[in-house]
Amino acid sequence: MSFEDLNLNTPLYNALNDLGFVKPTPIQSKAFNLVASGKDVVGIAQTGTGKTFAYMLPILRHLKYSTQDNPRVLILVPTRELVVQVVDEIEKLAAYINVRVLGVYGGTNINTQKQAVAQGQDIIVATPGRLFDLAVSHVLHLKSIQKLVIDEVDVMLDLGFRHQLLNIFDILPERRQNIMFSATMTEDVDALITDFFTKPQRVTIAVSGTPLHNIEQERYDVANFHTKTNLLEYLLNDSETYNKVLVFVAFKRLADLLFEEIEERFPGQSCVIHSNKTQNYRLRSIEQFRAGDNRMLIATDVMARGLDIENISHVINFDTPKFPENYMHRIGRTGRAEQQGRALTFSTKKEQEAIETIQEYMEMKIPLIDFPENVEISKQLIEEERPQIREHNNPTKQTGDDVPGPAFHEKKDKNKKENLGGSYKFKIAAKYKKPKTRGDKNYNKRNKK
Ligand code: AMP
Repeated sequence: MSFEDLNLNTPLYNALNDLGFVKPTPIQSKAFNLVASGKDVVGIAQTGTGKTFAYMLPILRHLKYSTQDNPRVLILVPTRELVVQVVDEIEKLAAYINVRVLGVYGGTNINTQKQAVAQGQDIIVATPGRLFDLAVSHVLHLKSIQKLVIDEVDVMLDLGFRHQLLNIFDILPERRQNIMFSATMTEDVDALITDFFTKPQRVTIAVSGTPLHNIEQERYDVANFHTKTNLLEYLLNDSETYNKVLVFVAFKRLADLLFEEIEERFPGQSCVIHSNKTQNYRLRSIEQFRAGDNRMLIATDVMARGLDIENISHVINFDTPKFPENYMHRIGRTGRAEQQGRALTFSTKKEQEAIETIQEYMEMKIPLIDFPENVEISKQLIEEERPQIREHNNPTKQTGDDVPGPAFHEKKDKNKKENLGGSYKFKIAAKYKKPKTRGDKNYNKRNKK
């Protein structure tokens, strides 16, 4: 498909020409007519697929020139970095269109943003918190919003924005088009769609199975959690090579556990993010990692996905993801913008199957590195790794006549009494000639002489 097939207009063709884009990406061709139709749309696509233009092309194609002050398009994204990124993309695409675009986000002076809003805008790109603050301050009027786009929804929900999203839904006009993009369909995303979308049209772009050629992949077979920690420590000792390391851990508990261990060994050099951390903490951690103040960031999957952090030297899969798509998402954080990146994966015996699945998916083998001799192999297991002990000869197990018969689960007679509620209470109260509680007003009333 070419851009001509999308029936755009001259200003958009000119902008695309300036950008040097030759043809639409798959998500752009698939989503164009759906978004243009005005129906609710759910797109599953990750950063890098061209998803921003997938919703912006049809929106800009059909947005009419207006001088009214109140914005008509609202785009919500989880982080201020994404606000800046999306505004930048829109400005490029709208280079020949007379449209007013404003990005607003927390952590900056709200009064400056209020003034910018008051100038009149067509499209607002915002993080949920700041948008809500501006709306309740009555500077930003949302009554003219016709299209709501929520980008990186899974990240947004994982960052704990669900409540803020619901608050915003409450103050938006009911008649509007909802468009959302998410890299994965999580339970939370699905619940949000079910609750707030009307018969959404879906478009999905499967994650490409071909890894980027500039990411060098390697793997280690490692016995258990503590040995993995020892191996990580061994690698991190080389701070020159391992200068910006993103460590992926599957569960929050393990992320915290690993953070404690790493913090002990390399104080003040790492930070951790997962959905139980406060939003401020997470944003600060990401900033510190981005700026290079901390050279390690320990993160769970969803947390780090929307992040576009430059110059990540290594992605380390502290565990092996079960789903190859997650592996692709993870390693894609390094080797961005054609730079060389490295991805290391630690796998236990139990995780070998996952490695096989990933290798099949990519149609390539990940080279196995010999386990370094001077790294201690720990015998200590964490709770999740200990086998569940099942005793075969359980002396307390009842046998023969001792085993209760099928009637065992029937209620005993004395337990069969019905719940008599209030009237029972009054009966008792009457029997004892006094209210059971001082606050039993009805009793007091009824028994007043
Ligand atoms: P996104 O997935 O929206 O973050 O976009 C990823 C990158 O692809 C951005 O730098 C876009 O400018 C670029 N891009 C978007 N659409 C196209 C296209 N049709 N052809 C080439 N590059 C594109």
